[in-house]
Amino acid sequence: MLVVYNPADGSEVGRVAKSNAAQVKAAVDRTCAAFPEWSSKLASERSDILRRWHDSVKDDKEAFAELMCRENGKCLSEARGEIDYGLGFIEWYAEEAKRVYGDTIPTHDKNANVVVTKEAIGPVAAITPWNFPFMMITRKVATALAAGCTMVIKPAEDTPLTAFKLLEHARKAGIPEGVFEVIVGDPKEIGLILTGDPRIRKISFTGSTGVGKLLASQCAATVKKMTLELGGNAPFIVFQDANIEEAIKGLVGAKLRNSGQVCISPNRIFVQNTIFEDFVKRLKESVARIDVDQGMREDFVVGPLVNQTGFDKVVSLVEQAKAAGAKVLMGGKPHAKGGLFYEPTVLTGLQDDSPLATSEIFGPVFAIYSFKDEEEVIARANQTEFGLVAYAYTSALGRSLRLSRQLEAGMVILNSGSVGTVSIPFGGIKQSGYGREGSYYGIEEYVHVKYVLMAGAQF
Ligand code: NAP
Repeated sequence: MLVVYNPADGSEVGRVAKSNAAQVKAAVDRTCAAFPEWSSKLASERSDILRRWHDSVKDDKEAFAELMCRENGKCLSEARGEIDYGLGFIEWYAEEAKRVYGDTIPTHDKNANVVVTKEAIGPVAAITPWNFPFMMITRKVATALAAGCTMVIKPAEDTPLTAFKLLEHARKAGIPEGVFEVIVGDPKEIGLILTGDPRIRKISFTGSTGVGKLLASQCAATVKKMTLELGGNAPFIVFQDANIEEAIKGLVGAKLRNSGQVCISPNRIFVQNTIFEDFVKRLKESVARIDVDQGMREDFVVGPLVNQTGFDKVVSLVEQAKAAGAKVLMGGKPHAKGGLFYEPTVLTGLQDDSPLATSEIFGPVFAIYSFKDEEEVIARANQTEFGLVAYAYTSALGRSLRLSRQLEAGMVILNSGSVGTVSIPFGGIKQSGYGREGSYYGIEEYVHVKYVLMAGAQF
């Protein structure tokens, strides 16, 4: 049995049965068995079923929000926002199912037609993290099902309850057994079964770069297609010509979302030296206005970190930085509330090679670096093996264009701290992964292209 605890107070939230190897294989069998019928449905039929799933979940939104608040620690307002975002994927792909168009190509043979079709890739599997227990699942499942694939999913062991609740609604909406399956259990064993089965034609993984690399190596044996949404180390650059108030608003929102446990969280904040002191002072005032608390409140609060491992990592990164001479301008230690709560922290005086700069912090820590000019900061921003997102604030048009071209990231966000919505291609480059989720690009990940030559017009 897997017991799920509330990170805010350690109380039990619920239990789910773990699947053993035989049960995981049975779920894979069901996923494969369901593929022929699901993929041969009309796109409009799949669309109708997805829409029913969307409506059923939407009617139960408050129960989902409370469950996520208790299971993950995020506050209610964030949980509601995540549900709207996640429902958006079901709605979007219910529509997109009907638009998986092919092509005709001018023929090279006067007696033939040349046609390109797109077909569902097959039964697929997904593995998801705990930081967005709802949206991470709908973003993968809705896309796969819309394309005609069937999907078995393994959610994170910290947040499986939201996944099973989504499954319950899926069944109510008419998504049959096999078309969408959820399994929990030993992650390594499940990973080996899913990647090793030649019938599973694709793995979509969101999580750490280390596990992503392991899964990619396991997928090599059966040449499986993959989507990898891995770690990030986002630079957030503020130039002296920026609207400082807007930059602080964007930074605080992006950094404190989910207590900093987000792959697109600003990790290295670069502020131009001419505005450095003023920026840091105003940032501290802004952060000080936000409460740290358990999330069952109506307003935005910084919640606990998700588990002891995550908490220990943040403590260790900040302690190492302090020992190396970083200046703690705010916070810098576990919160007086105890448990997994950590104080929102502002640090300066850091080196580019400090562990705080080279690892994903995944906590409410603002690590601020000073820079002199554009050329220098672009080079430093790109000095990472990650390439998920890069943010910059500037009012200069020419600079914006140069940044959009030169920053090495799958997503470049100028003068905003907000990245995600259903209609954009979300994803990274370098060791942040490959493949895109959301938008019309997302569904392409679940189809293969088939060229058909239809000759014989002369017969
Ligand atoms: P993680 O440790 O890689 O876990 C992610 C998922 O992989 C969980 O379901 C986990 O299962 C499973 N897993 C762990 N070891 C496995 C193995 N050997 N074989 C198969 N599955 C395995 O990542 P995390 O710490 O939960 O999540 C945070 C990471 O995700 C960060 O690096 C963050 O940047 C990244 N992330 C990326 C994106 C993006 O879109 N690029 C979005 C969100 C998060 P258990 O939970 O059962 O251990």
